[in-house]
Amino acid sequence: RYVSYWKNGQWDDGQMVNDSTVTINESAGVLQYAQTCFEGLKAYTTEDGRVVLFRPDMNARRLMDSCDRLLMPSFPVERFLDAIDKLVIANQDYVPPYGSGASLYIRPYIFGSGPILGVAPASEYTFRVFCSPVGPYFKGGMKPLRLMVSNFDRAAPRGSGHIKGGLNYAMSLYAGHVAHEAGYSENLYLDSTRTYIEETGGANFIFVTKDGTLVTPKSPTILPSITRRSLMQVAKDYLHMETEERPVKLTELKNFAEAGLCGTAAVISPVGTIHTHDGDITFGDGISVGPVVTKLYDTLTGIQMGRLSAPGGWIHQVI
Ligand code: PMP
Repeated sequence: RYVSYWKNGQWDDGQMVNDSTVTINESAGVLQYAQTCFEGLKAYTTEDGRVVLFRPDMNARRLMDSCDRLLMPSFPVERFLDAIDKLVIANQDYVPPYGSGASLYIRPYIFGSGPILGVAPASEYTFRVFCSPVGPYFKGGMKPLRLMVSNFDRAAPRGSGHIKGGLNYAMSLYAGHVAHEAGYSENLYLDSTRTYIEETGGANFIFVTKDGTLVTPKSPTILPSITRRSLMQVAKDYLHMETEERPVKLTELKNFAEAGLCGTAAVISPVGTIHTHDGDITFGDGISVGPVVTKLYDTLTGIQMGRLSAPGGWIHQVI
């Protein structure tokens, strides 16, 4: 893992360490007030044997946004990229081979490690990155998922939903447990008026209309997914599709031909059924993957894996 400390108003030079143990003061900002945020990205092997990252500069920038909202010092983009490169090089034996569907998951995070006095931001911070090989996110590959509309909010207070802060994930743990106990893979979270579709606990939604337009919910309280932003561009530039980012009502679900989730881990995962309070909504036959979701998946993974040429700056080669 990589570690850097922020003390006296600046980050130190950073170093690679072997130990996964973290020692902090018990009144640290992270322990008392959940002052922490993180990112998630993957290193994987391309068709021609390179080890690469997909748009890691976007993760660096999103981490800065999260830090701003939590009154934490942000970690500079160049330093972030350098830390990830060092980590991947040190762990290159753990990067799974091309074609396995597996990758090396990378988790950079920042937390208030110094003591706090009163309800105030911490005085010292720690940036760390660890990694672990992971298989595909949803077991069973491209089998359409069954989702349910949750009675809970995904995120902590209003105005924090767009950041990747630990507090938002703490709020969705119980709701995720309820969905799993009821036999569903994931929750569909609604906005606070329970009218508009937000996202799931770990991915954004995409929908395909009957005339082939790609629609994704616009909301200030969802995590702005890097995969989704990329996918909208891919749909336009590679597949010449119409795309719309707009508020999407729960009542519109029945009009869509296909549905899916997108995210670093989920890539593009088809959704077969969504359980709502007014009954189940099924996309296609509910058990096979729709043609547009298949095409989007093939194109995005083709770009990521080096089978198709990528837009400039999208593929960051480490090895
Ligand atoms: N929403 C949430 C709540 C997430 O945790 C994630 C995973 N980072 C996403 C969406 C997808 O974002 P990305 O495509 O950047 O991984």
